[in-house]
Amino acid sequence: MAKLIDGKAFAKDLRGRIAGAVQELKTKHGFTPGLAVVLVGEDPASRVYVANKAKQTVEVGMNSWEHRLPASTSEADLLALVEKLNRDPACHGILVQLPLPKHIDSAKVLSAIDPAKDVDGFHVVNVGRLSTGQEALVACTPVGSVMLAKHTLGKLEGLEAVVIGRSNIVGKPVAQLLLAENCTVTIAHSKTRDLPGVVRRADLVIAAVGRPEMVKGDWLKPGACVIDVGINRIERDGKARLVGDCDFASCEKVAGAITPVPGGVGPMTIACLLHNTVKAACAIKGIATPAM
Ligand code: NDP
Repeated sequence: MAKLIDGKAFAKDLRGRIAGAVQELKTKHGFTPGLAVVLVGEDPASRVYVANKAKQTVEVGMNSWEHRLPASTSEADLLALVEKLNRDPACHGILVQLPLPKHIDSAKVLSAIDPAKDVDGFHVVNVGRLSTGQEALVACTPVGSVMLAKHTLGKLEGLEAVVIGRSNIVGKPVAQLLLAENCTVTIAHSKTRDLPGVVRRADLVIAAVGRPEMVKGDWLKPGACVIDVGINRIERDGKARLVGDCDFASCEKVAGAITPVPGGVGPMTIACLLHNTVKAACAIKGIATPAM
């Protein structure tokens, strides 16, 4: 049976280390990192995410600002708020919660965020820095996924890694991070031929597909490490449930280690957002980031 990779416990531990770093910045350097989250509209899932982000930001001792704007907000007004936050010296991280209402061009808004404050890591400047091996703010879920893989396997160098999914938000940045760890990386997607055969080569599988329980145990190399990024809402036996992109029941019989859903990658995302905010604050202040 596979070892269970406890993302919830790892994220809690990471938040503890972040709180220590924030305290150190306050006492040694006299400033408090601050994160502004902007929510446009009333999307219920987004409201929950934003509330959780604000709560955890305050819990680690950072400043938190929530800007809740009506769904009717114009693109120009949103861009003006982003510009104001870009100029605010107390604000070190800006996150605009996606999805935005249809009348707003998300790409335009994301590229208006100062790359130095882009704690979601979606700005093309940060994407370009990541892919050219420079210091960058990197998207939170990919960072969290690779942290869990390293925590489980130690050094990743030389491993065969297969990333299923090539989105800008998860698949591509995960692949870049694994390349930086000296893995041999394959990116699979909906046009990949013989996906089970490709996955079977992998020592490390990262699934970010959005298809409930797609990856089966008999696709895996025995002992492989499986990081399941998928979060899919399904109904089973008349009950609503969250499942990943991997069929946990069959995969746990073959894998060496596996993340559960929920409780695997999910809790890492906000912890990595806080991690990025401390990194951004230190870079803006021109000081070394404390160990976290
Ligand atoms: P996208 O829909 O943007 O991308 C999905 C990718 O999977 C695409 O590259 C697509 O290929 C590929 N794909 C789709 N079907 C297949 C298939 N049958 N075989 C192989 N590849 C396939 O999703 P995201 O990357 O945004 O998210 C992926 C999953 O991760 C979702 O379940 C999402 O909920 C979850 N997620 C979890 C987060 C968290 O833990 N906090 C954060 C973000 C996402 P193609 O490019 O060819 O279309």
